[in-house]
Amino acid sequence: MPELPEVETIRNSLLPLIQGQEIVESEVRLEKLLQNLSRREFSRLIRNRVVRDIERRGKYLLFRLSGEYTLVIHLRMTGQLRYTDSGTPEPRHTHIVLKLLHGAELRYTDTRQFGYWFLAKDTEITLTARMAHLGIEPLSVEFTVSELAARLAGKRGTIKSLLLNQRVIAGIGNIYADEALFLAGLRPDRVAKELARDEISKLHSSIVYVLRQGVAMRGTSVSDYLDGLGQQGSFQHQLKVYGRTGQACLTCGTAMVRTDLAGRGTHFCPHCQH
Ligand SMILES: [Zn+2]
Repeated sequence: MPELPEVETIRNSLLPLIQGQEIVESEVRLEKLLQNLSRREFSRLIRNRVVRDIERRGKYLLFRLSGEYTLVIHLRMTGQLRYTDSGTPEPRHTHIVLKLLHGAELRYTDTRQFGYWFLAKDTEITLTARMAHLGIEPLSVEFTVSELAARLAGKRGTIKSLLLNQRVIAGIGNIYADEALFLAGLRPDRVAKELARDEISKLHSSIVYVLRQGVAMRGTSVSDYLDGLGQQGSFQHQLKVYGRTGQACLTCGTAMVRTDLAGRGTHFCPHCQH
């Protein structure tokens, strides 16, 4: 699933290509991807709108459109957005196409079909239930050690499950949670409220570091993820724990362990993480 660095990379790759472009037509072939509108309403509302900007919030992409409308897209498991010429053959599972004024297209493919689109007035976007409860942006200046400590205080859940909880911190998924916990030297099954202040401090810097590295390396392409031009990221070559079950820890040589936490495969080093 695309996490913060992947969604940020998609945003960065699409923005210079699509900013200022007009959407002249839409083709929605799989209506269930539209969360709040019928195909007909969506087509009518998005037509002739200009893309003013693209923002990211957590794992959401927000296309700011003219006339004070915003298109919110969540890619979930396998959603992909691709900017391409209209003449390029369409890949399978192309479910929505936005046709732009000068012959280019923004195509949405999604093999698992868990992604969703939401189009509404700017003022109504923040009122949608899912957006309203998003937690702090971990790469914002507001995300401090004290802020993280406050969010973990009194929480009985494991630190892994709290990192994945989008209401606590927005944008972290399975890959970057495992990598941050390894870097911080913390076992993923530690109870959040029992972390000491110096451990929280280490976790904070580890979260910021792995996410920044992920963005710098244009995301992690271990499964479906590609950017807005179909290019792979390269953070998969930097992974220290994720997907390395049974392989030697790069720090101490111990075999990496995989367990299930918060319903997700969780990777850690039983020697380096306490
Ligand atoms: Zn180790």
